[in-house]
Amino acid sequence: MTANLNVENQSIEKYLRQDRLPHIWCSGCGIGIALDAFLRAIDRANIAPDKVAVVSGIGCAGRVAGYVKLDSFHTTHGRAIPFATGLTLGNPELNVVVFSGDGDLVAIGGNHLIHAARRNIDMTVICVNNFNYGMTGGQVGPTAPLEARTSTTPYGNSEPPFNLPYLASASGASYVARWTVLHVRELERAISEAMIKPGFSFIDVISPCPPIYGRMNKQPRGLDSMHYYQEKSISRNGANPEEADIELNGPILVGKFVDIERPTLQERLLQVSATAQEKIKAQAKA
Ligand code: SF4
Repeated sequence: MTANLNVENQSIEKYLRQDRLPHIWCSGCGIGIALDAFLRAIDRANIAPDKVAVVSGIGCAGRVAGYVKLDSFHTTHGRAIPFATGLTLGNPELNVVVFSGDGDLVAIGGNHLIHAARRNIDMTVICVNNFNYGMTGGQVGPTAPLEARTSTTPYGNSEPPFNLPYLASASGASYVARWTVLHVRELERAISEAMIKPGFSFIDVISPCPPIYGRMNKQPRGLDSMHYYQEKSISRNGANPEEADIELNGPILVGKFVDIERPTLQERLLQVSATAQEKIKAQAKA
């Protein structure tokens, strides 16, 4: 759904808690670019800021909750989605956005991710995917490509990674996209579309972690990763997310992969509730 998008008002300063700056992110980190795209997307989608709620888990990306001048919640490790579920069910008028990292959302929080997608709960999940646990020293993450070197896999990762667009799509998400932090315009557009879209939306944001993952995998500067994204990204809207595996330093399939209509959990709950009330009334009359 792309209606009513506003590309005029692009200032993000009003959304930042200036008193919390400077931020903690390393030079060349991609999280700030992903945050910038998210904040611009709020204006682009014409969503009132007091209707936006941001939920983060633990990790470098989780710090976003502390920097935004929006209703925001920095929750426990892996539990951003359950927290967001309570918010969106309790107040359907809210536009609930989960902003966190691959370790938080897909490892310890993986169970919540697939079930929220299965239920098609109305929220947008922005996953900053840098293939490792940057904040705690660069341990291998659930999306690290095979053979990638991390602090816990110094001779190369031997665990097959999750393909996140495929995981989200197969679990039932209504909207699935992947962009890198080089694709700032596409990312902003995707987040705005996802926020407007009813149901569960998932955006995989490939992002550099130069001093930890990058240093161990021949991309020690943020610019090295940007060059990699420029050379190896293949943009194909509508591509089958099953083809979105990422091999070490290999091609990165980007684009909008899924944009379908499915009843949300909220809609199903209302339907069940209405049916139950009719039955109760009918029984009372009998
Ligand atoms: Fe970013 Fe990695 Fe630094 Fe964390 S450790 S702030 S993910 S560059």
